[in-house]
Amino acid sequence: MTEPDRLRPGEQAVNWPGAADAALVFIGRIRTPWATRAECPHRGQLEGPVCRMEIDPLWLGGLLGLASGDRLEIFYWLHRSRRDVVVQTRRQDSAPRGVFSLRSPLRPNPIGTSVVLLERIEGAALLVRGLDCMDGTPLIDIRPERRSA
Ligand code: SAM
Repeated sequence: MTEPDRLRPGEQAVNWPGAADAALVFIGRIRTPWATRAECPHRGQLEGPVCRMEIDPLWLGGLLGLASGDRLEIFYWLHRSRRDVVVQTRRQDSAPRGVFSLRSPLRPNPIGTSVVLLERIEGAALLVRGLDCMDGTPLIDIRPERRSA
């Protein structure tokens, strides 16, 4: 078990229930400058480095209508996360907290979300700023940012 996977004092894991119901399709991979979880920023920033979202050719038609300057909501699969840690102790916090009160990457269904700025489209790749995931993270979905009225 690697260091980020080890339980901290006060943390609790459950018995992983095993089989899941939903079958996700990864629509691409995210290329970022961060090779490990530890190197990633805690939260993406729109002024952060440009990352490359490589879209599987099957889904290229889905990019129609996107343009440079768009703000997009990105959903990705935090594939290196434990999924059984129900009570967690954040590094900066001594009090344990329940997973559903946190934006921790360790969750029963480790979906990450970030709002990004689309810099440009290069063939089958979207170049964006604002991500916080490690290199190779599977991409689940891309949506226009929800704007409040
Ligand atoms: N912005 C997303 C959200 O709010 O849903 C994710 C927030 S989470 C705090 C971001 C952290 O997840 C990173 O700092 C890194 O430690 C971890 N992480 C990044 N990519 C990961 C991956 N592919 N698998 C597991 N953990 C990852």
